[in-house]
Amino acid sequence: MSKTILVTGGAGYIGSHTLIELHNAGYDFIVVDNLVNSQKESLYRVAKIIGRNIPFYEVDIRDAVAMDEILTLHPVDACIHFAGLKAVGESVSKPLEYYSNNMTGTFVLVEQLRKHGCKNLIFSSSATVYGNPAQIPITENCPKGQCTNPYGQTKSMLEEVLTDIQKADPQWNIVLLRYFNPIGAHPSGQIGENPNGIPNNLMPYITQVAVGKRPELGIFGNDYDTHDGTGVRDFIHVVDLARGHVSALSAIERGCGLAIYNLGTGQGYSVLDLVKTFERVNRVPIPYRILDRRPGDIATCYSNPSKAFEELGWKAQYGIEEMCRDAWNWQKNNPNGYEQADY
Ligand code: NAD
Ligand code: UDP
Repeated sequence: MSKTILVTGGAGYIGSHTLIELHNAGYDFIVVDNLVNSQKESLYRVAKIIGRNIPFYEVDIRDAVAMDEILTLHPVDACIHFAGLKAVGESVSKPLEYYSNNMTGTFVLVEQLRKHGCKNLIFSSSATVYGNPAQIPITENCPKGQCTNPYGQTKSMLEEVLTDIQKADPQWNIVLLRYFNPIGAHPSGQIGENPNGIPNNLMPYITQVAVGKRPELGIFGNDYDTHDGTGVRDFIHVVDLARGHVSALSAIERGCGLAIYNLGTGQGYSVLDLVKTFERVNRVPIPYRILDRRPGDIATCYSNPSKAFEELGWKAQYGIEEMCRDAWNWQKNNPNGYEQADY
């Protein structure tokens, strides 16, 4: 019998891509999402791609009564926990909302999982926990750094909380996945990143310039100590990232206890590298202007992903050109994201 996975935040960007990879790997799943940062349409589209309905509950994970009911109805083998608020800038102006949603949400979720006898969890963490990294490329042994915003604090603190829970009760298998910079979209062009309002992140900004929704990209600084002065990041195709979760499930099935993995490609590209590659691959101009540095940004951040390869057999397959191709394929086919859905 196939295993059933509870996917919190499954209507979101990374969650929706992960549903497809779970399906491809033979897993069943149920989705809980309160749609605070997503639309139901993403789930309809995933359902179309995989050819089956998706059990979905529009519920806030902080609602213990509802979570209890859902888990009573659907015994699950593991949980992949994406649900959370993720906008760095917004977290500075709304710290309480971020701490409440991300921290309390995880506490309620973990309590309910435990109550229902499921002690297997994969948590969406972030390279942001490394702060200004002590070493590049970043291995999992690299000490955690100072997070400069409430969003990053929630990731870092939740890593500690989950580590303590696993230490106190070794029956728990908990995998902390530290994502680098997910971009791109499913090659079908049917699902992708759909930010509200002005995008905070680089790739959705680029694609909105490409599609004519914004006149130009602002590049935050060209005086960093990098090969062209712009920030360097480890961009990873969202489908590769999604597959990383399937690999992490196999670690849980082997009884991994607490495990931490970087999910990145190990390759650093600059902001300008990404802009130029996008223009070349898609033959679309991206006008840009150099702006001041964005407060809190670091010069360079890329992973050493070899632990995930050695222990999970997972390795990113897609390169920067495919990331640019698929991001554009999604945006040009859906200039207004999921907005035009007529459900
Ligand atoms: P997303 O906003 O697209 O998806 C998160 C989903 O969680 C959304 O569908 C939202 O509606 C849902 N959600 C939020 N709070 C909820 C709650 N209390 N109850 C139920 N549902 C709730 O974001 P994403 O990019 O898919 O990110 C998924 C996870 O990965 C997040 O935890 C995020 O912090 C983390 N992460 C993302 C990135 C990135 O660059 N996208 C990088 C590192 C870590
Ligand atoms: N960036 C930029 N213009 C934008 C958005 C981002 O120049 O409109 C730069 C940012 O300064 C950083 C890189 O792109 O060097 C990646 O930023 P993003 O917000 O996508 O991810 P982060 O690495 O900050 O999590």
